[in-house]
Amino acid sequence: MSEKLLLTADPKAGYLAHKAEIDEAIARVLASGHYILGPEVEAFEREFAAYHGGGSVVGVANGTEALELALRAVGVQAGDRVATVANTVSATATAIQQIGAQPVFVEIDAATLVMSAVALEAALGQAKGAIKAVVPVHLYGHPADMPAIMAAARRHGAKVVEDCAQSHGAMIGGRKAGTWGEAAAYSFYPTKNLGALGDGGAVYSGDEALAGQVRLLRQYGWRRRYLSEVAGRNSRLDEIQAAVLRVMLRQLDAGNARRRALADRYQTALATAGVRRPAVADGVVPVWHQYAIRTPRRDSLLAHLEAQAIRAGVLYPVPLHEQPAYAQPGCRLPHTEQACAEVLCLPVHPGLDLADVDRVAREVIRWGAT
Ligand SMILES: *Cc1c(COP(=O)(O)O)cnc(C)c1O
Repeated sequence: MSEKLLLTADPKAGYLAHKAEIDEAIARVLASGHYILGPEVEAFEREFAAYHGGGSVVGVANGTEALELALRAVGVQAGDRVATVANTVSATATAIQQIGAQPVFVEIDAATLVMSAVALEAALGQAKGAIKAVVPVHLYGHPADMPAIMAAARRHGAKVVEDCAQSHGAMIGGRKAGTWGEAAAYSFYPTKNLGALGDGGAVYSGDEALAGQVRLLRQYGWRRRYLSEVAGRNSRLDEIQAAVLRVMLRQLDAGNARRRALADRYQTALATAGVRRPAVADGVVPVWHQYAIRTPRRDSLLAHLEAQAIRAGVLYPVPLHEQPAYAQPGCRLPHTEQACAEVLCLPVHPGLDLADVDRVAREVIRWGAT
């Protein structure tokens, strides 16, 4: 008997779980004759803002452009420096480079793997005001230390744009990730905690004027049709994706609760497995976009799991400061480099149940005994 294949993410399972509602939403858009930036986008923007307890949301084409437009809206220009981390998807740095700005890679906290506020403070001090903005990444659904990051940024006059592509719904000290900085950027790539069935993204801000600026930038700098007030671009969200996202948004908290139950099961089951389990900082409620363990024998564990029809993921194998497109000779980030060499993400998504987690944990333990 061959066992069910377990994946690190399963957007098709997410679709099938809510198929009737999603099919109805898509049919509604097809029949409406309105396909881009219409009533579904407006409704989704209102509903996702309400999910944050108020503020404004601007739907855009993807998460990378959400970051880029948010950075432009807080005033980042060509030649400016933007502090971020190197253990993230290329998109975080791409967004900075799209503006002609320069990423400055800051070291992570060795336990939680998110931006170190101490390292940020040092980088801001060293740059003497040249770092215009900071992009903390709430990696794997675990938010960065926003109170400390905001305090450091304030001291040095830098703006903060939170990269929330992996943290829809996460909390820090009872407050949602995304509501701490001047703005937050979301991706709705299908594998994210809140995923569309195509590309999508959004900028959240508690500042109405800032959101208005993003609204201009996402469509040619238009407030009025055919009149560009600023040099904008095309980064629109379409009606079908917005309609799908409205359905998925209603499932977000339940999906996150399921991820939490699965992660709790892993935390207990792997207590003596000989791998390093993810750390959760005090006061943080993560949303477990990934469940990332660490082991120096990663390749061996990856191969063992693969042979048991369990797909684990390496997010991310090469830190950005060591990639050709972003290489910074002389930049050394020992905690970041070690994390990239050791992390392995085990399957965790709402399409799994506790028995699936038990099966994965059993295999990790069996591997550890070899
Ligand atoms: C997915 C992701 C992005 C980019 O989002 P796209 O929608 O793929 O452009 C940016 N940052 C992080 C941390 C991500 O996980």
